[in-house]
Amino acid sequence: MEYEGIVIRPPSEAESLILQVTLGCSHNQCTFCPTYKGRRFRIKDLEIIKQEIDEMAPYGPFRKVFLADGDALIIPQPKLLAIFDYLNQKISGLRRVGIYGNAKSILRKSVEELQALRERKLGIVYLGVETGDPALLEKIRKGATSEQMVEAGRRIKEAGISLSVTVLLGLAGTPRSREHALATGRILSDIDPDFASALTLMVVPGTPLHEELKAGRFELPSPFQLLEELGTIVANSNFSRCYFTSNHASNYLPIKARMPRDKEAVVQLIQKVVSTQDRSRLRPEFFRGL
Ligand code: SF4
Repeated sequence: MEYEGIVIRPPSEAESLILQVTLGCSHNQCTFCPTYKGRRFRIKDLEIIKQEIDEMAPYGPFRKVFLADGDALIIPQPKLLAIFDYLNQKISGLRRVGIYGNAKSILRKSVEELQALRERKLGIVYLGVETGDPALLEKIRKGATSEQMVEAGRRIKEAGISLSVTVLLGLAGTPRSREHALATGRILSDIDPDFASALTLMVVPGTPLHEELKAGRFELPSPFQLLEELGTIVANSNFSRCYFTSNHASNYLPIKARMPRDKEAVVQLIQKVVSTQDRSRLRPEFFRGL
């Protein structure tokens, strides 16, 4: 089996069998995202997908499978069901399938359709929320409103599937940093996901956001301003039960927390680092990455 182009997967899928059932991202317009720029979105033929499953199956058992690329959940339901049925038939030891979904691909499916996928071991959907700020969602061309994001997240949970969301520190630049953080805390509370991660924006050449940066229309917040954003997001989010992380390679201060239990401790830790401006607590710039 040969992968085409860059294949990305969530960190928690590091041990999964990665099957590339789509190529690229059906949206491919977010101004900050370099991943699939210049690539045309395509859903692979079912016969090719089945051949690749046949090819990989003897290397199993595989407990987890991740369906790449960008938003494989966009695959029309009959074809997606056929892929799941074939996976269940051929992959020994399969316990969970994970997939990226964006608000559009999730909202195209009813709760019943999502439940049919859950019955075939769809165990987790990863949704990039990025921000709760409606104006910012529009500016970054995310392709969904904050209401659609909340509805998409709720639909996944209602179907009994675990939901993991990501938000992006620094996305508003300097001037609207606080609005972004407050709104992001609110949307995380409204969605109430099982897993939430705050990543830190890295502006990558070739993206529209990089053009804005070069033209002086976008300014990345400083590391301590980014930490303030993180503190505001945590302080303003209310989870019923969530594993919250901010330990991605892009982040300055690694955090792993069980919410709501650890909320106050995390807020206090961030406040302490921000108030002392203690650079020794931050991940050095050369260790940061996408
Ligand atoms: S939906 Fe995700 S993969 Fe697609 S362009 Fe936006 S951030 Fe990139």
